[in-house]
Amino acid sequence: MTTAEIKEMTDKYIINTYGERPISIVRGEGVYVWDAEGKRYLDFVAGIATVNVGHCHPRVVEAIVNQARELFHVSNLYYIEPQAQLAKRLVELSFADKCFFCNSGAEANEAAIKLARKYSKDHIGPDKFEIITMLKSFHGRTMTTITATGQEKYHKGFEPMSPGFKYVPFNDLRALEDAITDNTCAVMVEPIQAEGGINVPSDEYLSGIRNLCDEKNLLLIFDEVQTAMGRLGKLFGYQAYGVEPDVMTMAKALGGGAPIGCMATKAHIAESLTPGSHASTFGGNPLVCSAALASLNTIVDENLPENAQRVGAYLVEKLRALKDKFPVIKEVRGRGLLVGAELNVEGKGLVSECMKAGVIFNCIGTNVIRIAPPLIINEKHVDEALTVFEKALANL
Ligand code: PLP
Repeated sequence: MTTAEIKEMTDKYIINTYGERPISIVRGEGVYVWDAEGKRYLDFVAGIATVNVGHCHPRVVEAIVNQARELFHVSNLYYIEPQAQLAKRLVELSFADKCFFCNSGAEANEAAIKLARKYSKDHIGPDKFEIITMLKSFHGRTMTTITATGQEKYHKGFEPMSPGFKYVPFNDLRALEDAITDNTCAVMVEPIQAEGGINVPSDEYLSGIRNLCDEKNLLLIFDEVQTAMGRLGKLFGYQAYGVEPDVMTMAKALGGGAPIGCMATKAHIAESLTPGSHASTFGGNPLVCSAALASLNTIVDENLPENAQRVGAYLVEKLRALKDKFPVIKEVRGRGLLVGAELNVEGKGLVSECMKAGVIFNCIGTNVIRIAPPLIINEKHVDEALTVFEKALANL
C-alpha cells in the first residue's frame, strides 16, 4: 500500500488520538527504517527510546520466531519458562530481587503505585496512601498514571483525577521535603524527565531524595520506562546516578520492540503483593519474554550502555558546537543517548525539514528536539544526522 492509501484507511478506522503523521514506516534494519515508498531514513527516534538494539536485531527476531513455533501465549495460571528466565536475568543485573510483568510503562507504574500503598499500609499504617511526583513528569495514560503525571494538559477533560497525588518541582529538594505529610507513602521520579523536556537532575538531587525517603520511611520509585536498558550509559538509569530506588519500573526498550512492562523491587517489599492482589492476562507471556531476554542479553553482550556513553558524549559535544553557531539553540542537555536540544522557536518545522532529508527526529512539547537513537549507532551516524540537522538550522 502507498502512504496515501494507509493514511486514508487510518483516518477512516482509527480513533484520532495521534493526529496527522508524516510518513508510514514499513521496514527497519539496525539504525535505518524505510517508508511505504521505499525511502530510507536514519532513525533518531527509535520508536521513542524503545528499539535500543536497533530495528529487527537478528537475535530478537530469532528468539521471537523460535518461541512462536513453540508457544505464543499461556496464562499466568501456569509457570512460564521465558518469564522466569527474564526475571532471573533482570535480578542478576539490578538491585531488585523480584519482578512483576505487564504490558506497558503505564501498567508498570500502576503496579508500583499499588505496591507502594499496600506495602505502606501493611508495614507503617492505614493512612499511608499519598504519592509525591514531579511537575513536568510523565508516567503514562491510564487514569491513575495521568494523575501521577505532573502536567495539567494530560488531566484536562478527564477529571476527576485519582486521589492521593501531590506534585513538586523537579530538582527542588526543599519543595519535596515540605510536601511530605503523615499520609505520604512514596516518591515517584524519572531519573531524567523525558517527555517533560529532557530535564536532567542536579548532582545531589536523586541522592537527596533517597536520603529523604530513608529519613521519612517512604518508598522511592524510579520510573525507568524511558531510561532503563542502557540509554543513559549504564544498563539502568539509577546506576548512572549511583542511587538505588526501592522500586523500578521498565517498559519501552525492555522488549526490544515487543510490548512488555516490568515492575521490579526488593523481596521484602514484593511480599505485600500476594496471590490475587495483582495480575495481567498478557503480562510476561512467552513471546514477549523471549524477545525481551534476547534484547537484554544483546544489550549486555554488545556493551551497548558503554557505546551509548561514548557516542552520546560525542553527540552532545557536536550539538554544543552547533549551539555556538546557531543562537536558535537555547540549550543542549541529556545523558548517554537521551539528549534534548531546546530551541528558541517551535521545533516542528525543523523536524519536518530533517525528515525530508532522510533523518527522523522528534519534538517534545513545542520546542525540544529529542534525540534517542538506537544504542548501536556510531560517530558516523551522528555526523550523518547532524549534517542534515545543521542544514535545516541554517534554513530556519
Ligand atoms: N513513564 C515514562 C517515563 C515514559 O516515558 C512513558 C512513555 O513515554 C511512560 C511511563 C508510559 O509508557 P507506555 O506508553 O508504555 O504506557
